[in-house]
Formats: sequence, C-alpha cells, structure tokens
Amino acid sequence: MPRAYSGIRESRPYTYNDLGGTGCDLANDFDKKCIKNADRSFSQGLQCQQINSISAVLSLEDSAFIIHAPQGCAGCVSMGADGYRVGQAHRGIHLIKNPRIFITNLDQDDIIHGGEKKLREAVAAAAERYSPKLIFIFTSCASGIIGDDVDAIIADLQPGYTPILVPIHCDGFRSKICASGFDAAFIAIQKYLLPQDPQPKEKGLINLFAPTSISYKDQLEIERMLGLLGVKVNYIPFYSSLEKIRKITGAEASTAICKVFADEFMKELDETYGIPFAHTVMPIGVRNTDKWFLGIADLIGKGDIAREYVEKEHERVLPQLGYIKEKLAGKRVFICGGTGRSFAAAALINDFGMELVGLETPTYDLDAQIDIEYLNTMHKNYVVDVANMQPFEQVNLVNKLKPDLFIGVGAWAAHFGLPTTHVLDPKRATMGYDGILYLGNKIVEQMRNPGFNRKISRYAKLPYKQSWYEQDAFKFIKEF
Ligand code: SF4
Repeated sequence: MPRAYSGIRESRPYTYNDLGGTGCDLANDFDKKCIKNADRSFSQGLQCQQINSISAVLSLEDSAFIIHAPQGCAGCVSMGADGYRVGQAHRGIHLIKNPRIFITNLDQDDIIHGGEKKLREAVAAAAERYSPKLIFIFTSCASGIIGDDVDAIIADLQPGYTPILVPIHCDGFRSKICASGFDAAFIAIQKYLLPQDPQPKEKGLINLFAPTSISYKDQLEIERMLGLLGVKVNYIPFYSSLEKIRKITGAEASTAICKVFADEFMKELDETYGIPFAHTVMPIGVRNTDKWFLGIADLIGKGDIAREYVEKEHERVLPQLGYIKEKLAGKRVFICGGTGRSFAAAALINDFGMELVGLETPTYDLDAQIDIEYLNTMHKNYVVDVANMQPFEQVNLVNKLKPDLFIGVGAWAAHFGLPTTHVLDPKRATMGYDGILYLGNKIVEQMRNPGFNRKISRYAKLPYKQSWYEQDAFKFIKEF
C-alpha cells in the first residue's frame, strides 16, 4: 500500500464520535479547532465495523465468506443475507441464492490455543464446497486479541488454492466508527484484487461506488442520469464481480452515491492510479441532486449537458412540490441516520419547507463540517447528537424537542406516538428528481397516518425513568 491510511477512521485528523450541541456551535467550535476529545462514560452499544466489511462484498459473484470469530459475531449477518436475497429479487433473478458464509466458531479452547486450525479447515471447506473465485476472510475481536496471524496463514495457504484468498481486517475493537469497516474492505480489495500496474484507461468509464443500502431502483436512476453524460458506469461493489472490480483502475473518474462509503478508497485511486473523483453529497432532494450530478459532470467536462438537464428537471419537478409543501411546511423534524443519508435527509426536508430540530449522526469530521455548514444555511437552532447508536440520548432529545416527525429507524421514537418514516426504500427510487416527489408524498402520507405509532405509545413504554428525560441528554459525554 503506497498510502499510509490505516483504515481506522479515528486516525483521520479532527474526527469525533462523542459530541453534542447545536449545529451552529459545533460548526463554530470545529472551525476554531476547539472541540475537545471526549468519551461516553455510559454507552448502550456500538455498531461493529465487521458487518460493514461483510456487507460491502457480500453480493460479489462467485464468492465465499469466512468469518473468523465466535458465532455471536455473525449475528448481524442475517440482515446482510436478507438484503442480498431481496436485491436479487429486485434484479429479476429467479433462482435466489443465499450468500455462502462460513464461521469458524472460535471457542474457549481456540482462544487459548489459537484459531489457525479452524481457519485452515474453513478455507478448505469453502473451496471444496463452492469452487468460488474469491474467498473473503473477516477477522474479529477474538481473532485479533489472540493474535492469529491471518495474513501469514492466508499467504501460506494461497499457493494451494485456485480461489483468491482475501483477508479483511475488521476486528470490532479497532474502531468505534463503523464506516472503518468499509475502508477495511477497500484496503483488502486494493491489496489483493486490483492489478498492481496501471491499466489502460477505458474512455468514458466511471466508477460508481455505492453502499449496500442503495436500492436497485436508485441504482437504475443514478445510472440513467450518468448515462445522459454519455459515460459507462462501473457500479461496484454490489452485485458485481471480480472482472468489474479489476476494471476499477481503468476508469476515467470515480464518484460515490454515499459521501462516506468510498471516500478514502477514491483518494487512494486518485493518488495511486491518477483517477480523479467527485466527492459531494448523496443525491436526495433538489439541491443535493443538483450538487451531486454537477459534481461528477464538471469533473469529466460535461457540466453543460448536466446544467441543461438540471434546468429542465427543475421546470418539471418544482411545480409539483406545491402540494407537498402545502402539507409539510413548518413541520418540525428529528433525523437519525448514517452520515450520508442523515445529512441528505436534512437538506431534503428544507426542499419541503420543514424545519430541522434534531440530527443524530455517527461521526463528526472534516466532511461532516462541510455538511453542517451547508445545513446551517437552511436550518437554525437544531441540536446535533454525534452518536453511533445510543438510543437513550435519542429518546431524551425527542422527548424534549417534541418534533412533528421522526426520520430514521423509528423503533424508539414511535413510542412517543409521533409519525416516523425513513428516506430509505428498497423498492422505489428515492434519489434523483423523481425521488424527491416520491419521498415528499411518502412523508405526507406518514404524517396523515400516525395511528399505528399512537397505539404503540398507548400500550408500550420505553424502559427509561421520568428522571432521565429531565436530565441533559449529553451528560454522559465526558471530555478528557
Ligand atoms: S468483531 Fe468484536 S465488536 Fe464485532 S461482533 Fe465480534 S465481538 Fe462484537
């Protein structure tokens, strides 16, 4: 690896995971470099980076996957496997497959004596049972703590196998930022799968990196928009293949649908292979779609075509927002989501005249600062909770801020009886200009139909004492 990036997001300067305040204060403090490092003295749990590494490659063709871990680490994999099956159905695949996942099931004995034997057996089983082209091996806290030298074991095994063996170092304890799991996957892709020599450039080929949460409808819409610029899209890594991965280095430029997903990898491709990239926003909402599309179009010298298209789309779509604005203007919203989607949703609601009162996002860093400065031009006095999970803080804030709508996973907010919805929809296009109309109408419908959540609030109680709601939501964030 010519570049020194470790794959651990905490190693990037000015990155914070434990933070709370108003959007305005955070932006000012960050600007003056006076945010202090902090930690939570109480935490309800973090998302592990391993699931992000697994989901990043889970839909690659002809692959098998070995999780070198105790079986509990594979708990979240059912979610990824479900997404893989649904993604196949949306792509019209009739013989739907499960991902070929093995777990080494490290137990007490292996923790003392090492897990090498089980890893070797798992590689042999995966190769024999499925004859894949690729076998990905995911590390875990347990394999990291006991010091299994997975790279050395794989290097020793590789000459005896046809499939390419790709270790991905995603031990949960290495990072509190789950997006580090994406970086770990891309570092492994670069090290083991990309050609080391520069490839001949393919005219008009664009790498389009997309996280697993992008629906097939959104993929089609974004590919269609890029097609208007006369480019060919290499959509990766979802439902793609070793061949498509190897084409990455022949691209003219790169962009990503999510701001967080491949940002480090695109920098790497730029520095190592001379592939420039557009790194803007997620194309949800009018202004974000403009920004995203013009970002990649300007990069490849097709800004004029994009501007003409954007103008036409504004003429077509903006008059249709009237009904949505009439229903939603002035409504107060709390948003919780991954960094890319939560910021995109906050810009989207401004297109409908709604007001942001609270935003929960996993990390604050230089990129988040750009987004918050952008959001500060639209929204005032909203609270930001920088938290990976931590629902106890979310319910405290939702209870205090009393929004009219919650956008995000509504499992907790629904207990307050308020309407909840998401900007994530696997079946319909949420991105691009038609996505704005779909999401606007979806929010209107949810606001008109809060009956289910009202029943939840009547019959199901959250497990917190009243005294917690009266305290500062950020009281467990301690500076050091
Ligand atoms: S790798 Fe570590 S953090 Fe991740 S699921 Fe396993 S034990 Fe938990």
